[in-house]
Formats: sequence, C-alpha cells, structure tokens
Amino acid sequence: MAENSTRTIGVLTSGGDAPGMNAAIRAVVRKAIQNGMKVKGIYRGYTGLLNEEIVDMDKRSVSDIIQRGGTILGTARCEEMRTEEGQAEAAQICHDHGIDSLVVIGGDGSYRGALALSRHGINAIGIPGTIDLDIACSEYTIGFDTAINTAMEAIDKVRDTSSSHERCSIIEVMGRNAGYIALWCGIANGAEDILIPETYDYDEQRIVDNIINNRKHGKRHHIIINAEGIGHSTSMARRIEAATGIETRATILGYMQRGGSPTCKDRFYASIMGAYAADIAAQGKSNRVVCLQHGEVTDVDIEEALVMEKHISDYQFEISKALST
Ligand code: ATP
Repeated sequence: MAENSTRTIGVLTSGGDAPGMNAAIRAVVRKAIQNGMKVKGIYRGYTGLLNEEIVDMDKRSVSDIIQRGGTILGTARCEEMRTEEGQAEAAQICHDHGIDSLVVIGGDGSYRGALALSRHGINAIGIPGTIDLDIACSEYTIGFDTAINTAMEAIDKVRDTSSSHERCSIIEVMGRNAGYIALWCGIANGAEDILIPETYDYDEQRIVDNIINNRKHGKRHHIIINAEGIGHSTSMARRIEAATGIETRATILGYMQRGGSPTCKDRFYASIMGAYAADIAAQGKSNRVVCLQHGEVTDVDIEEALVMEKHISDYQFEISKALST
C-alpha cells in the first residue's frame, strides 16, 4: 500500500438505496482500518452529515452485514447540499470531525455533492451505488445485479399465470431515466416487447399489431416489460385490451426490486470497490469515482465521470425483438 496521507476517512450512502451498499461499507471500514486510518460512519447521507450524525466505526461495526440489503447507514436526498452554504457547512463539519477523506456510495447526484466537498478541501471519492446501471464511467453499479435477478424471478412468475390464462401482461420495472433493468429483464425473460425511456416514442399500434399477430401464430401470452420512465402501465393495459380483445393486466413491481439480500456479484464488486476506495484514500487521492472498466476496478476524475455519456446498445435492443418472434 502507498503512503498514508489520510488519517480519518468518512463513509456515507446517498440517493436511492441499493443491495450491496452494506458490502461496500464493510469493505471501506475494514480496509481503511488495515491501512492505518480511523473511520467515521455518517448516517442518512448528506442530511446526516449536516446534522452531524457521525459515529466512530471499527471492524466489528460492520459484522454480519455483507448479506443484508439496504444500507445500515441509511440514505437520504438532501436539498441543502445543493446550495453553496450547505456545501461549505458540510465541508466545515468534515474538518471539525477530522475527516480528510469522504467516501460517498451513490449515483451521479451524490458525486456532485462529493465534487463540491472536494472543492472545499475534502478528499472525496465516489463509489457507484445504484440499481439503475446508469453511471457512465462504470460497466457495473452496485445493486443492479440483485435488482435484475429479483425482477426476473417475479416476471417468470407473472409469465406462468399469463400463459395459463392466455393473457397479455405489462410488467413495469424500475428505471426512471434509464432502461437497463427493462432491457436486461426483457431479454432474460423472453419478453415480446420492451419499452424504455431512452426511446420514449414507442408505437402502441405496433404493439397491438404484434400481440394480434403473435396470437394468430400460436403464442399463448404476450409479455411487455415497461420501464418506470414510460409508466402508465394500467392505462396502457386498458387500451391494449380494448384494441386486441385479449385480457391484459398490468403488474408494477415497484420497491421490491430495491430490496433483498445482494447477489454474489453485487457483494463481490461492492467489496472490491469499497476496498479500492479505502486504498486510494490512503494515497491521498481526491475527486475520484471508483469504476469498473474492461472488467478491472479503476478510478476516474469525478468531473470527467459526470460528463461521460452511456447509451443502451442498439444491437442488444434489436436482438431482444428478434428473439421474441
Ligand atoms: P440515484 O441514482 O439512486 O438517484 P443519486 O446519487 O443520483 O442516486 P440524487 O437524488 O440525484 O441521487 O442525489 C443524492 C443527493 O446528492 C441529493 O439529495 C443531494 O443531497 C446531492 N446532490 C445532488 N445533486 C447535487 C448537486 N448538483 N450539488 C450538490 N449536491 C447534490
């Protein structure tokens, strides 16, 4: 390990919770302690930082959490952190508690807060924690794997009953701005149609024609995976039933996709990324986002990370249609 220029590291979780965040917290705490640092846990994201909900953590503080969903530190959205005054106050609180490095586990918004703190002299390091996979610099985000597996199992169950009753099912999955959960489940569940926010101008008449055509060719069900960003699944179901004459039901999976024990992959990468964050903090690095690129854990500049773009693969989207005929 490189020279230890950080003495105290803080860790918080921010934005939406994601399964695997606890594995990341555990790794930050234990690796930082091995690196000779003190660790402070901050409850409720930036809200807790501003309220000074800060506790000392040791190796035992993170016992028995690797398998638990959610985040033991809690999370929050904090409007005050978006203001200059809030950011200056948060940085001052870090200084007062001797926190020279802060690890923020969350999404893009959380990195903007981290970037602001780094401008006030705190070594800020982001770890991608979001079920949506929508962090451009990283091939992987903590929680995505658990969320898609949870959704996939639920969709399989809806499919069984849908086939038995020869129904059409619209299943709404999470993803307000990003369609990765819908795309992955759409392909993994063999859905007939996938609707994602990146291509909002979907053609409902084409879906209706597709359902009627598939029924003529002997398909006993029709599964439409609809991302939250498109929404309106219930009214869509009513319109499709009226247009096709085929019983159509909407199922909104909702928050169940966020919870549950993290998969092996989420625990694995959250552990590696958490440890990596503690290592680069020990080296005094600041303003970095830990990420997975070409299968390797590495780090990039936060500002660069925030301007990167990530797009759903056209090829994968087209393949999903080709395989469902
Ligand atoms: P998710 O992907 O789950 O939505 P996120 O980290 O992107 O996670 P946000 O709600 O966008 O979630 O951001 C989390 C918190 O980060 C906000 O509540 C706010 O405290 C802080 N934050 C967001 N944007 C900024 C900003 N521009 N400047 C400073 N802080 C910000």
